[in-house]
Amino acid sequence: MQTSKKIAVVGSGLVGSLLAIYLKKSGHTVHVYDRSPDIRKIQFSGRSINLAMSNRGWKALDGVGVGDAVREIAIPMDKRAIHLVDSLKFQNYGQEGESIYSISRGTLNRKMIDLAESAGAEFFFEQKIWDVTLASATLHIGETERGEWEDRKYDMVFGADGAFSRIRHRMQRQSMFNYSQEFLNIGYKELHIPANADGSHKLDKNSFHIWPRGEYMLIALSNLDGSFTCTLFMPFEGENSFASLTDRKEVEAFFEKNFSDSVDVIPNLAEDFFRNPTSTLVTMKCFPWTYTDKIALIGDACHAIVPFYGQGMNAGFEDITVLYEMMLVYGDDWEKVFSEYEKSRKPNADAIAELSYRNFLEMSTKTADDKFLLQKKIEKWFSDKHPDKWVPLYSRVTFSDRPYVEALAIGDFQNAIMEEVLRMENIENIWNFPEVENKILELLQSQ
Ligand SMILES: Cc1cc2nc3c(=O)[nH]c(=O)nc-3n(C[C@H](O)[C@H](O)[C@H](O)COP(=O)(O)OP(=O)(O)OC[C@H]3O[C@@H](n4cnc5c(N)ncnc54)[C@H](O)[C@@H]3O)c2cc1C
Repeated sequence: MQTSKKIAVVGSGLVGSLLAIYLKKSGHTVHVYDRSPDIRKIQFSGRSINLAMSNRGWKALDGVGVGDAVREIAIPMDKRAIHLVDSLKFQNYGQEGESIYSISRGTLNRKMIDLAESAGAEFFFEQKIWDVTLASATLHIGETERGEWEDRKYDMVFGADGAFSRIRHRMQRQSMFNYSQEFLNIGYKELHIPANADGSHKLDKNSFHIWPRGEYMLIALSNLDGSFTCTLFMPFEGENSFASLTDRKEVEAFFEKNFSDSVDVIPNLAEDFFRNPTSTLVTMKCFPWTYTDKIALIGDACHAIVPFYGQGMNAGFEDITVLYEMMLVYGDDWEKVFSEYEKSRKPNADAIAELSYRNFLEMSTKTADDKFLLQKKIEKWFSDKHPDKWVPLYSRVTFSDRPYVEALAIGDFQNAIMEEVLRMENIENIWNFPEVENKILELLQSQ
């Protein structure tokens, strides 16, 4: 057990509230601040982004005994339902029994705050943190950036305040602080598939629905109330873009042409389209993540990634698992806890950022590429035959808690093998012949 400290967590999002539970159960006094109102008290429209929770997320939740409470609000998805232009295909995510889980961000966040409060963490809502004094872990709170501020001093402060973190903002003004931020030219917008009159789902609720169309795509994840939350990803500008859809007729015609089987299930398409905002997607990297034994960044505040691997929250939750491991090993030596935490996490955060960005490229540029489809077909065939020798990259990221850096490295090695295989003569016709199998086995030996 560590000596009890007075700790502030800035941000009551998913990462901040789970961190609060871990810190409280480790014997600390925990105050969580958020600039927003208490989301449990505001009128909730029932609409919100859905997240896919996978192994790393569950491990962090189970690690502090709250996994089962969250399982009650999660829907397992064991497969992708791929809505092609003229057909519907199903593709299992992993082995028998392996699923990712659809959870509404709003429902999960409210649950996490409830759980953190029951554990004894105190929450302070509508409290805007404008700045922090790093050396003394003092928060500066006020109504406006230029108005009066109140100071609150702590033993340490965690910045769990998301991709545009104010805590990081202060650290950025230190010398030797590296920082980069890159926006995609793709944005996203939410749409809604309501439940049937009897409360049932209009599509299979245990599938992650995807309408891949090259540079744009639609996805849909199920909610407990029978509805689905859809997200349309599309370039901001250009031929098929948000800018090109300017009125009701254009939106309806676009969906009719490109997502025809979705039209019947999204009754308020044009209303949703023009009412809901178009949001941006950013990759943000920085280092260091900590300042002496006083300040640590965690979650999106130190590694925001694009959502194409469904790992942002999972990675943030894994930060907590690793931080806690360091707390157990180094006890009261918080400087060591922090330095080992950032040393362990930074390469993994960079790896999942890279994998997520590659997945975006893969979905936007390669899905229609014949060579790429052939590669996927061969990989699937070989992996089914030799599950012990070829674990697909997706499974390494999603159904494992091995480091992301390892998944990236093995994925690169597998890609190099596949490049050689695709160079084999007449590969289009011999792709499932023994000579291809033997070639892969032989190349695997060179690892
Ligand atoms: C379209 C989309 C789909 C996604 N899908 C997935 C998915 O399927 N699976 C997955 O694992 N991840 C997914 N993610 C990523 C996931 O949403 C984030 O990684 C996760 O929400 C990060 O949590 P966080 O607590 O670090 O930050 P946030 O959720 O951003 O929370 C930050 C909190 O800090 C508060 N705050 C900010 N500034 C201040 C301040 N100055 N003072 C006080 N409070 C402040 C905010 O009000 C907020 O409550 C997706 C993201 C997007 C955009």
